[in-house]
Amino acid sequence: MGTRGREIVGVNTEKIVSLLNKAFADEWLAYYQYWLGAKIAKGPMKEAVIAELLQHATDELRHADLVANRIIQLGGEPVISPKAWYEFTNCGYDAPGDPFVMRLLEQNIKGEQCAITVYNDMMMESREKDPITYNMALLILEDEVEHEEDLQSLQEDIEMMLHHHS
Ligand code: FE
Ligand code: FE
Ligand code: MG
Repeated sequence: MGTRGREIVGVNTEKIVSLLNKAFADEWLAYYQYWLGAKIAKGPMKEAVIAELLQHATDELRHADLVANRIIQLGGEPVISPKAWYEFTNCGYDAPGDPFVMRLLEQNIKGEQCAITVYNDMMMESREKDPITYNMALLILEDEVEHEEDLQSLQEDIEMMLHHHS
């Protein structure tokens, strides 16, 4: 973005860039958590769970791309080193140490719930001040809400399979 594009941002761009960089670290960690979870998943409905985890991994990587582009437009620099992801992250990284599908779903649902809060807060911060960041956060929030629902619905199906068979 050029200089006028930055001038129209009605808040301290550094504040917005800082929020964006925290979300950027979250997206990479979420991507890796999903990607690795899909590799190791075991248990009932494994195929369906793996397909969902992989689809979400792809979405998280796309989110990282959107967020990085906005950081650069605002004249910022996306977190340069993966080592720094841990310093920046809001939602952390829940290592998929247990391959059981129910455990993976639980961990990733927790991550999605955190992501929903992060993008909701970003919308509050950018509303009426930075429409482009606001719009990006809204698009991502829609995905995160869908992700949470997808995972909770798989959780329900597996619960039913485990506990309600006749
Ligand atoms: Fe995401
Ligand atoms: Fe997500
Ligand atoms: Mg999905």
